[in-house]
Amino acid sequence: MSENRKVKKAEYDVVVIGGGMAGICAALASARHGARTALVHDRHVLGGNASSEIRMHICGASENLAKPELEESGILHEIMLDNKSRNDYFNYSIWDMVLFTAVKSQPHLTVYLSTAMEDCRMEGNEIREIDAYQLTTETHWQIRGNIFIDCTGNATLGYYAGAEYRTGSEGRAEFNEPDAPEQANNDRMGNTLLFKAVDRGHSVNFKRPKIARHFTEEELKYRTHSAVHEAKTKGDVDKAYLRMTSYSTSSVDYGYWWIELPSKTEDIIDEYEEIRDELVSCIYGVWDHLKNGGDHGAENYDLEWVGMLPGVRESRRLVGDYILNENDVLSNRVFEDAVAYGGWAMDIHTPGGLYDFDELPSRVVSFDGAYTIPYRSYCSRNIPNMMMAGRNISATKMAMGSTRVMGTCAIGGQAAGTAAALCIKYHCGPKDMPEHMNELQQLLLKDDCYIPGYRNTDPQDLARTAQISATSAREGFTPEKVINGVSRDENGIRNMWSSDGISPEGETLTLKLASVKKVSQVRLTFDSNFNYPIKITLSKKRQLQQRIGVPPELVKDYTVTLWRGEQKMAEQKVTENDQRQNVVTFEPTECDKVTITIHTTNGEKDVHIYEVRVYS
Ligand SMILES: Cc1cc2nc3c(=O)[nH]c(=O)nc-3n(C[C@H](O)[C@H](O)[C@H](O)COP(=O)(O)OP(=O)(O)OC[C@H]3O[C@@H](n4cnc5c(N)ncnc54)[C@H](O)[C@@H]3O)c2cc1C
Repeated sequence: MSENRKVKKAEYDVVVIGGGMAGICAALASARHGARTALVHDRHVLGGNASSEIRMHICGASENLAKPELEESGILHEIMLDNKSRNDYFNYSIWDMVLFTAVKSQPHLTVYLSTAMEDCRMEGNEIREIDAYQLTTETHWQIRGNIFIDCTGNATLGYYAGAEYRTGSEGRAEFNEPDAPEQANNDRMGNTLLFKAVDRGHSVNFKRPKIARHFTEEELKYRTHSAVHEAKTKGDVDKAYLRMTSYSTSSVDYGYWWIELPSKTEDIIDEYEEIRDELVSCIYGVWDHLKNGGDHGAENYDLEWVGMLPGVRESRRLVGDYILNENDVLSNRVFEDAVAYGGWAMDIHTPGGLYDFDELPSRVVSFDGAYTIPYRSYCSRNIPNMMMAGRNISATKMAMGSTRVMGTCAIGGQAAGTAAALCIKYHCGPKDMPEHMNELQQLLLKDDCYIPGYRNTDPQDLARTAQISATSAREGFTPEKVINGVSRDENGIRNMWSSDGISPEGETLTLKLASVKKVSQVRLTFDSNFNYPIKITLSKKRQLQQRIGVPPELVKDYTVTLWRGEQKMAEQKVTENDQRQNVVTFEPTECDKVTITIHTTNGEKDVHIYEVRVYS
């Protein structure tokens, strides 16, 4: 070993490995709840498959507007709204900055970019320390921690630690999963490179590179590959399949997700570099086919961007204290230890990927509603101080076909990070969390997460016993709805107060507390209207569904006042709000009444508020 080798040491309460959407949300949640947290990420930019390097758009339980009530809220929504407020043109450099700012400005969080975790040290069956190499600073980091969260996608930390894991599909009988294959197998969905092409308004040549593979029309017959969108589908294709975004938005502005290659051997991770090389050959080969292989309406199209870092769909899944399976998904199961949920269809791709020329690229098992994901699916079965979040959670291949979308990964990350911080607070390990399950679930709801079947029952919330009134209300949107425990629309029920217009003095919501209390925090959940998508996306179709700027329904300028009788005790004014959840803090102030006066929204004519909470 060289004597110039630079080694540095660091120590944290919680160490999160992997800065995809799951890792970002896990690290932010952990740090926000006071745990000294590290986020170790091997790339220069954050976001994993949603990063500027890969550019997949974030989907989730709402299935791209098919189930809008199920949109993910919490930290993910906050990040997406921040992006929405400053990135009208879907610019990935701005998105990089939004993610960078979110983690870099978070107190208690240290971010190690360009730092690859390469090993770990155990004490008994617990992980004590990881080794990581930071490429940019030639530094070997030794990072100790109490709790580790594996958000690497590939379950790399778990693999090094000797955690139990699975690959491929379970056989049908193991969990009685109706759509699992009869026999277990090691098929894994493949890796993909995306691209973006733009119309230059005039003819653009494409000179075929030497490395490009040749594709025929016959080979691509089941894969949409025309700049004018002519989807060819098998006659017996399931209708739900056509509903899936990923199929219908496979277009030249967004890249072809079906340029997908699995491994030839048992280990898709070991083969990553070879697969990348072949994907490069395929992506340029498909583009050559579009440009030079007959009329595909691509005459004026030009490649603006081509990825070089393949996104990974499937590798290892860590085995946890519970393995989520297809029956849980189909039955919309509500677990006692539910901490997250999913709603995306079980989307399983054909095993040979692009080279399965006679197969549709993906098979989709759709279902109505949402299932919950138990806390136990985020805890390793045999490594007591390791949790996981992202596509590597404890689920069968069928269930993972749904949980793998990044919205679901992100809310699972927030749940895992919050749980890890609670473990630090109680000096316990992840496996002791069931004792604190109610607190964990309530904390997640307080932080604007959603858990189907659960509502605010937080005894600390002084708003729950307050008398509520408002200066005006539209029919069906009574002021009391702000304390009904559900901070979004659910099963068609509108759970918000809406004023009837906004008078020149503003509209005021009044909470008369049950008795005089010291108040130090008022939490407000506004309406960001889940019926409109807000994600960053390359897809023109998805971009056109969006409204420019901040959702107009969001309250913009407002004042929160604490009163004792008719005497004003404290006041906070908030301006230019562009977030769904707002937390307004005060020096602890004795009061018996809280008023919220809304002066303006971001465009909507009425004031919309889903929830108000008041804390000492
Ligand atoms: C082509 C393609 C299309 C898809 N389409 C969609 C879609 O439209 N919408 C959707 O929501 N989902 C989509 N998915 C699925 C989704 O992108 C993944 O399931 C999801 O990204 C998994 O999230 P994650 O946070 O677990 O992993 P990732 O997004 O992969 O993030 C993990 C991060 O950890 C880092 N990391 C890994 N190992 C280490 C290490 N040793 N040290 C430090 N850091 C490490 C990686 O660099 C990576 O950035 C698609 C996937 C692919 C491949």
